[in-house]
Amino acid sequence: MFEKILIANRGEIALRVIRACREMGIKSVAVHSTADSDAMHVRMADEAICIGPPPSSDSYLSVPAIISACEITGAEAIHPGYGFLSENANFVQIVEDHDITFIGPSAEHIRMMGDKITAKETMKALGVPCVPGSDGGVPDMETAQRVAGEIGYPVIIKATAGGGGRGMKLAKSEDELETAFRTARAEAKAAFGNDEVYIEKYLGRPRHIEIQVFGDGKGGAVHLGERDCSLQRRHQKVFEEAPGPAIDDETRARIGKICADAVAQIGYRGAGTIEFLYEDGEFYFIEMNTRLQVEHPVTEAIFGVDLVREQIRVASGLPMSFGQEDLSLNGHAIEVRINAEKLPNFAPCPGMVNVFHAPGGLGVRMDSALYGGYRIPPYYDSLIGKLIVHGRDRKEALARLKRALGELIVDGVDTTVPLFHALLEEPDIQSGDYNIHWLEKWLAENIA
Ligand code: ADP
Repeated sequence: MFEKILIANRGEIALRVIRACREMGIKSVAVHSTADSDAMHVRMADEAICIGPPPSSDSYLSVPAIISACEITGAEAIHPGYGFLSENANFVQIVEDHDITFIGPSAEHIRMMGDKITAKETMKALGVPCVPGSDGGVPDMETAQRVAGEIGYPVIIKATAGGGGRGMKLAKSEDELETAFRTARAEAKAAFGNDEVYIEKYLGRPRHIEIQVFGDGKGGAVHLGERDCSLQRRHQKVFEEAPGPAIDDETRARIGKICADAVAQIGYRGAGTIEFLYEDGEFYFIEMNTRLQVEHPVTEAIFGVDLVREQIRVASGLPMSFGQEDLSLNGHAIEVRINAEKLPNFAPCPGMVNVFHAPGGLGVRMDSALYGGYRIPPYYDSLIGKLIVHGRDRKEALARLKRALGELIVDGVDTTVPLFHALLEEPDIQSGDYNIHWLEKWLAENIA
C-alpha cells in the first residue's frame, strides 16, 4: 500500500480523498494555488505545496507543477478527483513515465472513452445498448441527410470531441438539418479544435440514468446500481438520487450486468460511470466517465462502501474488497449540489462566508470545504458543498433532506439552497416523476 498520496484537486473532493487516506493510514499531500492558501484541503492534509497562481491553467492544470510536487514530497501516487486533470490521458501517461501511480484507469481507457465515436463503437461491440445513429463521423450534408432520413427526425448532431453539453444541435425536420449541421460543426471546431460530428436520434423525454461500475484492472468488475441524475440545468446535474425512481430490481440487475461485463471485458481499472438516456423501458448509452463522479456519495450511502478507498486499493495492486454478491442495496439516498450562486440567474457569488453550520443527525452527510471566515475565491467552480441524505425509503430521504436543508447555515454569500426548498414542495419531485427537461421547464415557469 502507498505511504503517501498527492491529491491534484481542491475543494470538497480534495477533502473527500484526504479522509479516505487518513482512515487507511496513508499520508496526504495537498496542492494549491496562491488563491487557496487558506483553503480547507490545505489545512486538513498532512502536507501542502503551492503549485502556482490563481488561474487553474497555471496551477491545478499545470502538469509540470504537479509532477514536481510529487517529487519534492515523495508522494507515490496521485488521486485526480473529478474535473481538472482527471480525464486527461496525456497527464496519466506523463505520471506513469515518472513512476508515479495514477489512481484511476489506464491512459488507453481514458482516451478510448474521451472520443465519443470510439466510446460508442466500443460499447456497442461490448453489447451495451446505444442510441440509434450514424456509424461514426458524418463528413458532409449528403451523409447527414441520408443518416437522419434513416433514423427519423428529430435528430441531434453532436461533437465527437464534445463535453459539457457544447456543440450539440437539434434538428426537428429536414428543413432544420443544414443549419444544425453547420452550426454544430462550427461550435465543435471553436470549442474543441475538432469539427467532427455525429448524428443520433433525439429522445424527447428521457431520464438520465447512470450505472456505477468498478473494475479490478484484471478482468473482474462489479456494478453498484444506478443513479438518476435527470434534474439538470444547462446539462449540469443539480439533484441526484439512488435508486432511480423509475428503475426496478430486475431492470437494475439486467443493465448492471451488461455494464459490469463490458468493463470486465476491456480490463478496466477503478471507478467508472456508464451514462444512459432511459425512455420507455429502453437504455441508450451516451458516454462513459472514467473517474469518480461528483454524485458518488449516493451510491456509497445505499451500498455502504467507500469508493475512494476502493480506488486506492485497486491502484496499489490489491484486489477489490467486495464482489457482486457482497453488494446489496439498502434504502434511498439523495444528493443536492449547493452552489454559491444567486437566483434567479445563477450568477456566481464568491466572497466571505461569515458563518457556516453544516446539518447533522441520522442519515446526513455534508461534503463541503467551507468554514466560517473562509473567503470563496472567484476563480473556480461555484460548488461549495454536497448535502447527501440517506433514509429507509424515498419518502424518508425526502423528509430528511428538507429537515437537513433547514439546518444548513451559509451566511455571507447567496446559495442555491432556496431552489431545493422550492423543489421539495413540487408534487413531481415528491413522486419522482421527472425527466431531463423537467427542471429547465420548471425554472422558466417559476424562477426566471
Ligand atoms: P456532454 O459530454 O457534452 O455532456 P452527453 O452526450 O453526455 O454530452 O449529453 C449531454 C446531455 O445532452 C444529456 O444528458 C441529454 O440531456 C442531452 N442529450 C444527449 N444526447 C441526446 C439524445 N440523443 N437525445 C436527447 N437528448 C440528448
